[in-house]
Amino acid sequence: MQEVLDALAAGASSEDFAAITIPESFRAAFVKRDEVDMFEGVASADKDPEKSLHVDEVPTPELAPDEVYLAVMASSINFNTVWTSIFEPLPTFGFLDRLGRESEWARRHALPYHVIGSDASGVVLKVGSAVRNWKPGDQVTVHCNYVDDQDPTAHNDSMLAVNQKIWGFETNFGGLADLSVVKANQLMPKPAHLSWEEAAVNALCSATSYRMLVSDNGARMKQGDKVLVWGATGGIGGYAVQYVLNGGGTPIGVVSSPERAAILNEMGCEAVIDRAAEGYRFWSDEHTQDESEWRRFGKTIRGLVGEDPDIVFEHPGRSTMGASIFAVRRGGTVVTCAATSGYMVEFDNRHFWMKLKKLLSSHFANYSEAWASNKLLNEGRIQPLLSKTFTLEEVGVASRAVHRNEAEGKIGVLCLAPAKGMGITDPEKRERIGEDKITLFQRHTG
Ligand code: NAP
Repeated sequence: MQEVLDALAAGASSEDFAAITIPESFRAAFVKRDEVDMFEGVASADKDPEKSLHVDEVPTPELAPDEVYLAVMASSINFNTVWTSIFEPLPTFGFLDRLGRESEWARRHALPYHVIGSDASGVVLKVGSAVRNWKPGDQVTVHCNYVDDQDPTAHNDSMLAVNQKIWGFETNFGGLADLSVVKANQLMPKPAHLSWEEAAVNALCSATSYRMLVSDNGARMKQGDKVLVWGATGGIGGYAVQYVLNGGGTPIGVVSSPERAAILNEMGCEAVIDRAAEGYRFWSDEHTQDESEWRRFGKTIRGLVGEDPDIVFEHPGRSTMGASIFAVRRGGTVVTCAATSGYMVEFDNRHFWMKLKKLLSSHFANYSEAWASNKLLNEGRIQPLLSKTFTLEEVGVASRAVHRNEAEGKIGVLCLAPAKGMGITDPEKRERIGEDKITLFQRHTG
């Protein structure tokens, strides 16, 4: 793969990139099918991704007509990397087997190992015979919505496609590798003002937050809306705060340390709740929620912004859903895409129906939502949340940090990129947007 780096350094032509030999094997991060029981009896919090994530050579799969080979320069850790590595809530091999039954080409995915990763930035090396809009040498980022566009349900809103999958989670050959196989309709132009690792961390979390808050399929945030954001310096929360500010709303950011509060303040989020300092106990025991704690939480929000939030951006799940449903204003919307602390959620239905509240589900983003969020990144209106950068060999350590809630923003992973800071092809644009804005999370956590 040195040829790829040489070609990039030389500003090689598309023909030169097309002439690069695709290796028979490549370095990748993966979990193994015969290890899915390795954490049996271990508490969820103690399951260590470093034990289950391997980095080694795997054989290169064939290329389907609608796919490209991507030389991956950088990737990122997502929470789905954590879920895959601790085999929760299910081992991902079931997804691969189901996909494998769909078609001849899909059969490639059902393997004894699962190459993971749902984000990437890189360079197209080779395109399949049916690919029209991309060519070797194109510098791209990848969104993770994987659909069969010959299926009628994949049109209109492709997140409603019956066979919709998340690349690198429910498919094999993900982005935490030196080479990836990607459907052409997952590619988006790489923002030229960002380094490889800055460009690699956005698509999954930014597009998820875009759909949840901005899109017609989400909460349709309006100017002036007050939006409560849980985990406001986390992956999806950090983009959510930016979308609220960008759209003329007021974010109320919830975090768990003064350091995270300081990040929010620099982002322009003035209303901040440090949930650790407040010591909320929404659950008084495993089975009982404490309404007085919901009331205390609601009072804090009103003290900060003068009213109940129009929207609650929800993802912790079991630990917070009762409080979220209680706190959102009469007629307001709780939008959820996850359940980090537990998926059997519980809330008081009386507060929900009597105050005509709405609960809206959301999952990643369709093709056009992913492009809309990439466009805002490209225009410098939304900034990458890159905090720390690891090498591919360190993928286990990096995933453990996310699992233990020790990381802010997004963790970048260098794959083929030999060092941080490479891949910026429009330094003037970067200067115009502002180094300080682009590197806010790196400065606070570096
Ligand atoms: P992350 O970077 O780890 O951030 C999560 C944040 O949530 C943390 O920073 C933490 O903030 C907060 N948090 C964690 N546990 C909490 C709890 N019990 N109560 C309140 N706050 C809590 O993760 P992420 O990338 O933002 O992802 C968050 C969740 O969304 C994950 O479950 C992920 O799988 C899911 N997700 C779903 C989709 C989708 O398409 N459906 C897409 C992306 C992510 P503080 O400790 O500072 O409060």
